[in-house]
Amino acid sequence: MAEILNRMVPLLRELGVDARWDVIKGGEQFFEVTKKMHNALHGKDEAFTKKDFDVFMETTEKNILDVDTHGDIVFVHDPQPIGLIKKKKENKWIWRCHIDISKPDRRVWKFLKRFVELYDSAVFSSPSFSQRLPIRQFLISPSIDPLSDKNRELPQETIDGVLLKYGITNDKPIILQVSRFDRLKDPLGVIEAYLQVKRYIDCQLILAGGTAADDPEGFKVLEEVKQKAEKDPDIHILLMPQNDIEVNALQRASTVIIQKSLKEGFGLTVSEALWKSKPVVASNVGGIPLQIKHKYSGLLCNSIEGAAFALKQLLNSPDFAEKLGQNGKEHVKNNFLITRHIKEYMLLFLSLYHNEDVVNL
Ligand code: UDP
Repeated sequence: MAEILNRMVPLLRELGVDARWDVIKGGEQFFEVTKKMHNALHGKDEAFTKKDFDVFMETTEKNILDVDTHGDIVFVHDPQPIGLIKKKKENKWIWRCHIDISKPDRRVWKFLKRFVELYDSAVFSSPSFSQRLPIRQFLISPSIDPLSDKNRELPQETIDGVLLKYGITNDKPIILQVSRFDRLKDPLGVIEAYLQVKRYIDCQLILAGGTAADDPEGFKVLEEVKQKAEKDPDIHILLMPQNDIEVNALQRASTVIIQKSLKEGFGLTVSEALWKSKPVVASNVGGIPLQIKHKYSGLLCNSIEGAAFALKQLLNSPDFAEKLGQNGKEHVKNNFLITRHIKEYMLLFLSLYHNEDVVNL
């Protein structure tokens, strides 16, 4: 979400839309509750107490006082700030869901739904995430900005410099996953798949990521990952703060890119990799199959063994891998660039001022 808004807000402003981006505040307890909600919406069995919902509401009430919501249109992202809708006046409000809520925990969804229903419209990234709602729902995919530091072309010296900085040589094929250290990104599963490949092909694995400020679980997951990687010098765990050029360079330096998420709202890292014409192995979950058509623009997998098999296939068949990468880039160019995204948001804004019949014509 931050990745997109960083690029989207300035572009909207250049187009004459007076867009501003605000962030709500929350304490440790709030983020523990919202992380639990996030996991439960992704189908994990989590226990909630009345206190959890009270903590959520207390922080919401504080933010209602602090956040300025006077614009013509207020665009609220994800569950954390959802309760700001209580502040709605005559203006239009949109709720943008970035997460995979195809099989949400019913209790949490029921709690959030009471807020969603107060919005004018909701936006989801994949048809499978839509829910029974009394408001209009739109399907709009996220996007990447090809001119951003994360995605623009880089000189070879920059790519080599980043590898050097992290002590990585490119004498063996590189498998890379860029992701927050979150269980839903399955970093342990990635290591497992890599170890299965390593029995047959000498290669190295880079797990690059950080932990999000609103994620209390991140450090624990990172510790488990470090422990599992300890004995293999060909596994590089790179703790990177938000450094777009470095992420870009690592993606460009890789032989194959993997995204072995267990759940995924969209998976921007997949589009980022495909934009760099890289062969990608990614889980068949959430928004990933929108980006990868199996055996055409990448390989989809459903298990650790499936991921290992696909990685081996790509490492053993460079021509096939190259073709997938080329097709992937073309697919991203046609569907997941920020220009398409802005056009769809503009149409969505317009639709808020027309009644349903007119829009459906
Ligand atoms: N990312 C990054 N540094 C990190 C981890 C992730 O820059 O340490 C970027 C990544 O390149 C992508 C975004 O953060 O642009 C993550 O988006 P995605 O949809 O893949 O997953 P999310 O983190 O939103 O679940």
